Amino acid sequence: MPRTPLTLRRALDAHCARLGTCRQCPLAPGVQPIVSLARAPRAMLVGQAPGQTESGGGRPFAGRAGKTLFKWLARAGLDEQTARELLYISAVTRCYPGPHRAGRGDRVPSPGERARCSGWLTDELRIIRPAVIIPVGRLAIESFLGAAPLASVVGQEHDVEHAAGRAVVIPLPHPSGASSWIHVAEHKVLLDRALELIGRRLGTLDIPSRSVA
Ligand code: SF4
Repeated sequence: MPRTPLTLRRALDAHCARLGTCRQCPLAPGVQPIVSLARAPRAMLVGQAPGQTESGGGRPFAGRAGKTLFKWLARAGLDEQTARELLYISAVTRCYPGPHRAGRGDRVPSPGERARCSGWLTDELRIIRPAVIIPVGRLAIESFLGAAPLASVVGQEHDVEHAAGRAVVIPLPHPSGASSWIHVAEHKVLLDRALELIGRRLGTLDIPSRSVA
């Protein structure tokens, strides 16, 4: 059936209502899935898992990592409001996994959690059929490109087959302060290149660039 803005919005409304009540994993009390606000998305951004700030559900990338991510996207020509409206923000897992046992950062979602949650991402790919996907962080990148060193995939475009067709995948490193990767000089160059590619690709999708102070 041909997709119209209205059918896309309805499909995403129904999808997000189901996602918001998902309890397939044994979660800590009060933990709820994060849900994207975009209902007329032109592309997708796929993160790893919510952090503590987003543990009660609601908007993805609402914490400190999100501040860095939206600063990066501003360099690609998208302010936060535009990014939240036009990029459907998905993730490998949608519920806060809890703190890491060693006490630094958050626990990496288990393979079981990732497998249980993967159906949500597959459904979103089928509903949105994105031409551009921006995976953010190692777990998200691996789900589209397989395991590879970040330096060999960031700063490049990748033509990838996904659940609903083909897309250009432009990976970004994780913006969390826990990652030292982004502080290496050569890696900063790769990040700059990736943001330039994202800006160019989003320009071809008619995404309005809003200037950011
Ligand atoms: S992590 Fe994913 S599969 Fe598990 S409860 Fe949350 S939304 Fe459901």
